[in-house]
Amino acid sequence: MVHGKGADISNVKQMQRWAEEKYITAHIVKKLADCAKAKGDFERADSYWNCYYCAKFVTTANGLLFTEYCKTRICALCNEIRKAIKIKFYLPVVQRWSDPFSMVLTVKNVPAKELNQRIDEMYILLEKIKNKYKTRFRRKTGIKLVGFRVFECTYNRTRDDYHPHFHLVVADRKIADVIRTEWIIEGQKLWGKESIYERSQKYRRIEKEGEENALARIIKYGTKIFSEHNPRNKKSKKGVYIEALDTIIAAMEDRRIFDRFGFNLPSRPKEEKRVQYLKDYKAWTFVCEYADWLEKDGALSLSNFVIQDEMRVFFNESIINTKTHEFPPKKFIIY
Ligand SMILES: [Zn+2]
Repeated sequence: MVHGKGADISNVKQMQRWAEEKYITAHIVKKLADCAKAKGDFERADSYWNCYYCAKFVTTANGLLFTEYCKTRICALCNEIRKAIKIKFYLPVVQRWSDPFSMVLTVKNVPAKELNQRIDEMYILLEKIKNKYKTRFRRKTGIKLVGFRVFECTYNRTRDDYHPHFHLVVADRKIADVIRTEWIIEGQKLWGKESIYERSQKYRRIEKEGEENALARIIKYGTKIFSEHNPRNKKSKKGVYIEALDTIIAAMEDRRIFDRFGFNLPSRPKEEKRVQYLKDYKAWTFVCEYADWLEKDGALSLSNFVIQDEMRVFFNESIINTKTHEFPPKKFIIY
């Protein structure tokens, strides 16, 4: 018995990307689970384990793949799926906007212990700006703010601090101007003059035909787990800092990472819950060492994905557990 409509296994590119996502996630989540457990957060540790088993066991029949997805925030595979859905729904909206802009709202980095409060304040401030203009628009004294925002937090290894920030896509330049100005004025009142650099609050026009790439880049910010340490980016040699990553995931718990304002999406057709009984099927298990799903009673592999040596080396050498209490000097345990 399988659920859902299944994924097309003839889409080799997608299958291989999924295998890669599984490989990446499997290497990281076990260590994240240990980290959460050490902090006494068993619920988060469970959620990491849940992610470890995401799409581990799959069934294929009639060219389709069926499995259970974990839907956790850390899961690279589930994020890949989420990203595709978001792009599908938001791309037509952005393409209809006359002159869309992408922008970043930042504030000075904070140490781990201040991260939660800082994120709270940032969310409240952005909400305040949106509400202020909602009222003004209603009273016909201001413009309507239309756009969406994605929250991201990255880690600065050198300074051992965190950089929570927003990425936004807005419908035109006037909106970008208003939000930027309000963020600087109100943010400086809240966190002090030195905390917001005007030059860091950037915005730029999204060129025609470039909307999909811009969207893919921005939506990824909310969902990727390697913000600064992307193993697929050859220039990035920074590694994955487990302790920092767990701190970020913990700080993002129960928060909306993605939100829109000033417009509605067309209502989505409700997905019917489909259950099928398969007679003729194959069962597969993801084996991390092979970076692929292997046939249960046979010798086949499902995606034929070949993991690059570079990535194998990366995962053997660059997953680092930061021992914050050994600061200074900082020492690492390298697995
Ligand atoms: Zn998943």
